[in-house]
Amino acid sequence: MYRIIGILLASLLALCGVEAMAAPTSSQERCSLTLDSAPAASALASLAGWHCPAEFSVEPERFQVLRIDLSSTPDRGSLKHAISRKADFSSLTFVTVDQAGAIRMTRSVFADGQQAFLDRQFSLPVPVITDQTQTFYAIMEGGTETMPLDYLRLEHRLPGSSAEDRNVLLVFALVIGVLLMPMLIDAGVYHVLRERFSLFHIAMIGSTLVHLVTVSGLNIPLFALDLPTSRMLGVASFGGILIAANLFTGAFLEHEYLPRNAAKIFRLQAALVALATLLHSPHLPALGSLPATVFYVACFATSPYFVWATWQAWRKGSRSARFLAIGFAPLVIVGLIRTVSHLVPGMPTYDAGALFLLGVVLEVVATTFGVADRFLVLRHERDKVKAEAEGLAQQARHDPLTGVLNRRAMTDDFAGLVAKGYTSVALLDLDRFKSINDEFGHAMGDEVLKASAQALSGDAEARVVRMGGEEFLLLLRGPDARQRAEARRRAITARILAEIDGLDRPVTASMGFLDFSAVIGESEIDFATIYSRADQLLYSAKCDGRNRMVHERLELFQPQVDQRGAAAA
Ligand code: GH3
Ligand code: MG
Ligand code: MG
Repeated sequence: MYRIIGILLASLLALCGVEAMAAPTSSQERCSLTLDSAPAASALASLAGWHCPAEFSVEPERFQVLRIDLSSTPDRGSLKHAISRKADFSSLTFVTVDQAGAIRMTRSVFADGQQAFLDRQFSLPVPVITDQTQTFYAIMEGGTETMPLDYLRLEHRLPGSSAEDRNVLLVFALVIGVLLMPMLIDAGVYHVLRERFSLFHIAMIGSTLVHLVTVSGLNIPLFALDLPTSRMLGVASFGGILIAANLFTGAFLEHEYLPRNAAKIFRLQAALVALATLLHSPHLPALGSLPATVFYVACFATSPYFVWATWQAWRKGSRSARFLAIGFAPLVIVGLIRTVSHLVPGMPTYDAGALFLLGVVLEVVATTFGVADRFLVLRHERDKVKAEAEGLAQQARHDPLTGVLNRRAMTDDFAGLVAKGYTSVALLDLDRFKSINDEFGHAMGDEVLKASAQALSGDAEARVVRMGGEEFLLLLRGPDARQRAEARRRAITARILAEIDGLDRPVTASMGFLDFSAVIGESEIDFATIYSRADQLLYSAKCDGRNRMVHERLELFQPQVDQRGAAAA
């Protein structure tokens, strides 16, 4: 496992190095200059003190000038677009100077920029460039990052038109397609488990999707965005990925393996990134480079705790931590590269685009496997808990000595059973049971009770309940209920005789039988009333000499409350 991660990280870093070397290059000579006031177009050629190769710094009150020498550029007469990386600026003035000294100029503000395909790029129109044009100048005012000048280049055509660009766009489209499936999986997991981590995972993939679309410009054919909007979406969606990733991690890693307060710390980190995102996503030139710096610092600041907490969880045996570690490793590296390249003065801002894309795929695939794995584990645990709970519920409904239903179960089920056609009840009490206990011992009494319950259980259309002591209840449905109940009553004596040795006399039972089918539908049948009436019948049977049945067909249903009311009156 460790070796696989090692190889993975090494190859990702190598990829990063290759990409970094390919970062902004140009065959033309590029020089830079920083000025306190806007230079006049005509004075540009006479300015001194240029830095070649160009190097820019963010200095809000000053003017950064880029000079590109076009004198040896072939086909320069058809250069039409200035292309660069999205970042805000107040204005960009382009000046071209011809061999004969002719000067042409265009001035664009931030909102004039148009989103372009790939690499979070934008385009601006340039002044007419001819074969006679010698030098191109770009003067940036009020930038909060150096990116627009670091990456500025002149192109004949807008990005996205070459075959190579189209291949890269295809890769983006594929990656975006790949992200849709995990979102469906998350939705399914949420539907079954109602675990918040699947919602955070959806949010994380959703933000990733928006980010990839704005980075690649795949939205352009449907709706082209202006520079401020697409920059804002790019920043907000990147912040969104981190916010969701923090919330996801806090909810996804098993709590028993996480350091104390980890979930809280992840939420706090998410809140910090949210604040930084709110600050950095709108274009606020008055704040200079502060919002960008706050954003990068906040984004990066979440990594150490993420790495530490995941590592701690992994060490303690968390399964989920492994998926997270593999999934997020490349993105943590990307974060590191982006932050360092943004914060180190003089280093061009480098966003490790290819590694980021690869990281995104790996992150989504690995965490989705993690979610699926967690789903299986959680479902297994829940099934187990459910089975145990069902077992306990089962115990709570049954009499432990005889195994038949208890009084509570009957009270709960009575209305439902009546609705299913159980419309007669028989209440049975063993005769002179106390004397069996007294003469033969309590254990023998227990055996008699068990045999009685078994004897009563011989009717498929009757529910058997031990109401307490040596009193049983049958709830019956179907034809000849009274005769069947009587048969059960007699079966008690027969069974005890057949099964229990050592008794010197037959054990009999008295029974009160009540058919209440005629009162169904009159009003809601009340178990307490039915039971109390059956008890009266049982009492009559006892008084009449025991070992017999007394029965009645209930014609008029009187709920207990009414009876009491009548008695009081
Ligand atoms: P009758 O014919 O009037 O019903 O007389 P009886 O002796 O059956 O009635 P009584 O209510 O006087 O006695 C019931 C006895 O049942 C008293 C009690 O000790 C015994 N008993 C209650 N529960 C259990 C039990 O779980 N096991 C055993 N062995 N005896 C029990
Ligand atoms: Mg009795
Ligand atoms: Mg009794």
